[in-house]
Amino acid sequence: MFGALEAGGTKFVCGTGTGPDDLTLASFPTSMPEATMAAVIQFFHQQGSMEAVGIGSFGPVDRDPASSGFGRITSTPKSGWRDFDIAGAIRAGLRVPVGFDTDVNAAALAEARWGAGRGLTDFLYLTVGTGIGGAAVASDKLVHGLVHPEMGHLRIPHDWTRDPYPGCCTYHGDCLEGLASGPALQARWGAPAESLPANHEGWILEARYLALGLASLALAFSPQRILLGGGVMRQATLFERIRAELAVLLNGYVRAGEIVPPQLGFRAGVLGALVLAEQAYHALSTPGSNA
Ligand code: ADP
Ligand code: ZN
Repeated sequence: MFGALEAGGTKFVCGTGTGPDDLTLASFPTSMPEATMAAVIQFFHQQGSMEAVGIGSFGPVDRDPASSGFGRITSTPKSGWRDFDIAGAIRAGLRVPVGFDTDVNAAALAEARWGAGRGLTDFLYLTVGTGIGGAAVASDKLVHGLVHPEMGHLRIPHDWTRDPYPGCCTYHGDCLEGLASGPALQARWGAPAESLPANHEGWILEARYLALGLASLALAFSPQRILLGGGVMRQATLFERIRAELAVLLNGYVRAGEIVPPQLGFRAGVLGALVLAEQAYHALSTPGSNA
């Protein structure tokens, strides 16, 4: 049995099991690190003995195994969590190997194994919610790079005449996340995204912005498929609008890969953390492997 933790800005979701069919879930509100981690560790203790635990965390994180900061949440504005050693807290509390990555990388791993990424060697997974996050699987492997991809912060053209809203990213203002996240929709239109009707002009602009981001990503990665999840994508008319905008932007030059919803819903993150646990477990039994 493996343990899984999806560490989110509003709640921590814990799971135990081996996959979608035997997953036991529990969830705890994200308060200060000590209290939250105590609840998480107590839950895992109650579930019995674990071979390894995987963590998919909100970020940015340090997941470079060679770094002294490995396992930490780094530059979050979230009170109390900046530089918190989340992997260390689990390792100290449970004395098991710990796998660690971002929440969105974890979700992509789960979609690759059990969801809409099955059988693909190259795909992208983006979540459009409170923020915008993205993961790339390229040649069957998650892309990590120097830190980890932060696709939500791509710069996209911003037509100030058509859209005078300045954007809400605390780092960049009008990056993709600043213009197209749920909070950006709410700030621009003065109402929560879920309350905007399907024919609201906001969705035309939203599809345009997301397609601008996806055009760059499709050209850079050439994915077979692009999975779009997160709360904002519950506005289902977005899918067709984004496909149409993307076709206009690429203008027949190359194919972009199909744009589809993920299949694992709210369980993607915690299931991905389970895959991270499994990888940490196998890395231990195969020295030299680098999961
Ligand atoms: P988080 O990103 O915090 O994990 P979600 O992926 O659920 O959470 O995204 C939350 C965002 O999604 C909010 O900004 C909310 O306004 C927006 N949202 C939720 N439901 C809908 C909906 N049906 N249509 C459009 N936007 C929605
Ligand atoms: Zn940004």
